[in-house]
Amino acid sequence: MKYNPVQNFIGGKFVNIRSDKSLDVVSPIDGTLLSVVPMSAAKDLDDAVKAAKAAFTGWSKTPIKERVQVFFRYKTLLEKNLQELATLCSEENGKTYSESVAEIEKSIELTEFACSLPQLVTGEILEVSRGVECRTEHVPLGVVASIVPFNFPSMVPNWTLPNAIALGNCMIMKPSEKVPLSCGRLAELLKEAGLPDGVFNIVHGDVTIVEAICDHPGIEAISFVGSTKVAKIVYQRATSNYKRCLALGGAKNHLMVLPDAIPGMTAQNVAASMSGCAGQRCMAASAMIGVGNVDAIIDKICEEARKIIPGENLGAVINKESKERIERYIGEAERDGAKVLVDGRNAKVNGKENGTYVGPTVIDFVTPEMSVAREEIFGPVISIMRTKTVDEALAIENKNPYGNAASVFTQNGAMARYIIDHASAGMIGVNVGVPVPREPFSFGGWNESKFGVGDITGKSSIEFWTKLKKSTTKWNAEAGVNWMS
Ligand code: NAD
Repeated sequence: MKYNPVQNFIGGKFVNIRSDKSLDVVSPIDGTLLSVVPMSAAKDLDDAVKAAKAAFTGWSKTPIKERVQVFFRYKTLLEKNLQELATLCSEENGKTYSESVAEIEKSIELTEFACSLPQLVTGEILEVSRGVECRTEHVPLGVVASIVPFNFPSMVPNWTLPNAIALGNCMIMKPSEKVPLSCGRLAELLKEAGLPDGVFNIVHGDVTIVEAICDHPGIEAISFVGSTKVAKIVYQRATSNYKRCLALGGAKNHLMVLPDAIPGMTAQNVAASMSGCAGQRCMAASAMIGVGNVDAIIDKICEEARKIIPGENLGAVINKESKERIERYIGEAERDGAKVLVDGRNAKVNGKENGTYVGPTVIDFVTPEMSVAREEIFGPVISIMRTKTVDEALAIENKNPYGNAASVFTQNGAMARYIIDHASAGMIGVNVGVPVPREPFSFGGWNESKFGVGDITGKSSIEFWTKLKKSTTKWNAEAGVNWMS
C-alpha cells in the first residue's frame, strides 16, 4: 500500500476514524492499491461539528480582509505544490497528468475569486427616512458542509471551500470515498496558509455520513455535487431538516453541429469534449445532433478520436464497474441498430493491464429512444443523432431531463443566438465544446442538473453561503417623526 490509511481532519489534526468498515483506494491507472479509507460514523461527524462550532466564533469575527489573507497564501501554496498535487490527483482519479495540472490551475483560479470577495460583499446603506438609515450586511451562516464527487478530487472541493470559508463559515468536507487523498493535502496547505484549527474539517465516509450530515442539527447549509439520483436524496433530506441546500446533479450535454460549422475546429472540439477526463466531466459532450448533412464533419471527428490513445492522451475511468457500465451502453446501442464508428471497448494499455481504460467511442445513427441518447454514460463516448432542422434538434435537447450544458457549432450568428435562446440548459457554448463559465462567472445547470436556488461559484455563492442582516438606525433625535418611525 503506497500511502497510510486515510484519516479524518478535525480541529486542525489528522485523526483516526473509529470504524471497522473500510474501502480500498485503488489507482484506476494500473490497479495499484494506494490506501484504505475507513467509513466514519455519526460520532466522527459530531467531533467535526464540535470543532467547527468552536472555531466559528473567532473566525466569523475576523474581518473579511484578514480572512482572505489565508487564501492569498493558500493560492501561492497551490502554485508551489502544483506538480505534487497533480500527481496525486492523477493517481487516485486516473486522469492524465496534464488534465490534473489543469484541475489544480482551475483550483487556483477559484481561490483568486475568493480573494476578491471583500470587493464584492459590501452591503448597502440608504437614508430611508429623515435621520433613519437602513443598512444590509452579509453574515456567515455557521457550520456548513460540502459533499463532493470523484471526478474532480481537487477542483470541486475548491468550488466551495474558498468562498464559504472566506465569507466567514466553518466547513466540513465529505470527499468521495473513491478519491479521498487529494482533499487531505488541501487541508494541510490550508493549515500551512494560516487557517485556524477547526475552520476546515474533513470527514470521510459513504451514504451513512452523508445522511448524518443532512440530519445534523449543528449544520446550517449543505452543498452537494454528484449524480442526480443522490442530489435528489440529499436535497430532499437536507431541506426537510430545514437546511439551506444546493445540490448539483448529473448531465447529458448536447452539441448541435450545423452544416456551416468549421470542420477541423468542430471535430477537435467534439472529440476533446467527449473524451477529456475520460468523459467523466459533468460538462462533457455526450450526445451530438448533426443538423442536415454533416457527414464530412463526422469523418473528421472519427479521425480526431483515433488520435486519442488510452494511457497516452486519455486517462482511465474510475473503476471496473464504470468500465463495464460504459461498455454495456456501447453494446446496447449496437444491438439497437446504431453504428459504432470508433470502438473503445476492450482497450488495453501495455504494462497497465489492471488499469480501467475505455477508448474513445463514436456511435452514429443513434435514435432519441436509445439508452445512449437518453442516459448519462460518464465515459469517452459520443452518441450522434441526425435531424433535418434546428428545431428538431432543439426538441431532442429540450426533452432530456438534464440541463447542465449545450453547445452549437456554426458560423451563423443569428442561428447561434436562436439556440442560446431555446436550449434548455444553464451553460451554453457557441463553437465551444466545454462551455464552463470561468471566474468570475458562476457555474450551475438547470432542470435535473441542479436543485436549489443560485449557482455554486461566482457571485451567486455569496447569497448561498451568507444571510443578510438588515439594520435600521436613527441617531438624530431632532429628526421629525413620520409614518414609519
Ligand atoms: P455520486 O452521486 O455517486 O457521489 C457523490 C457523493 O455522494 C459522494 O461523496 C458519495 O459518497 C455520496 N453518495 C453516493 N451515494 C450516496 C447515497 N446513496 N446517499 C448519500 N450519499 C451518497 O457521484 P459520483 O459518481 O461521485 O460523481 C459522478 C456524478 O457527479 C456524475 O453524475 C456527474 O455528472 C456528477 N457531477 C456533476 C457536477 C455538476 O456540476 N453538475 C460536477 C461534477 C460531477
